Amino acid sequence: MKIQVLGCCGGRLPGFYTSGFLLNDHLLLDAGEIGGVLKVEDQCHITDILLTHAHLDHIVGLPFLGDTIFGQIRKPISIIGLQEVLDSLHHYVFNDQIWPDFTRLPAAQGEPVFRLQLVQLGTVCSVAEFEVIPFPVRHTVSSAGYLIRQQETTILYSGDTGSLQEVIQVIRRSEKLAAAFIETSFPNRLRNLAEETGHLIPKALDKLLSELDPQTQVFLFGMKPQYLEEISAECQAMQSRARILKQGEILYLGENP
Ligand SMILES: [Zn+2]
Repeated sequence: MKIQVLGCCGGRLPGFYTSGFLLNDHLLLDAGEIGGVLKVEDQCHITDILLTHAHLDHIVGLPFLGDTIFGQIRKPISIIGLQEVLDSLHHYVFNDQIWPDFTRLPAAQGEPVFRLQLVQLGTVCSVAEFEVIPFPVRHTVSSAGYLIRQQETTILYSGDTGSLQEVIQVIRRSEKLAAAFIETSFPNRLRNLAEETGHLIPKALDKLLSELDPQTQVFLFGMKPQYLEEISAECQAMQSRARILKQGEILYLGENP
């Protein structure tokens, strides 16, 4: 499984983009960044987009993606998420006021640019070569994390979450994970803010790390860029095996990259 980090932060500063991860060049996991990184032809390769929730830092790449690929793709891109997430996206973004309704505007073959596709928590769905299972996470809005499997390689992606309780339950029920991608937005001293806004701090990761197989790689994302150095120092001080993702890096996981 190839994973390209289009963005991995919870905010924007020069050189730091919000969360978007491109799997095998065509499945996008959250859409916080697309057009600042991918050329037009690479944007046209995207076939499916999994959204964890509708917060701006996870969807802001979508309006410009629709604009860029309009008239250039043959099949609609599936935007996949929970009902509330898709409803928010349609109602507040693609509403012909904030931005054109690309779920209606036709592509070259008369089909729309985006097709909204519903998933249910706990229900397995096939997305291209991947098997995807959405699971509940606690955030300030309706949100899902995802287990994503390709052949023998499975990853877990937390989305934004203020609690690891549900994530740990999923880990206990799952087969061995190749990697876990866990949101960590704030440094430890901002614990109260993190709790209020449904986010995690490095200190919260201890229990999670003890539950994971030692061979499971742990990657952190969603850091507010203004706190990145502080979060990084805290992870080092804890001698945590969790590693903070870097903007632009490409990971190859499992035996079939
Ligand atoms: Zn959020």
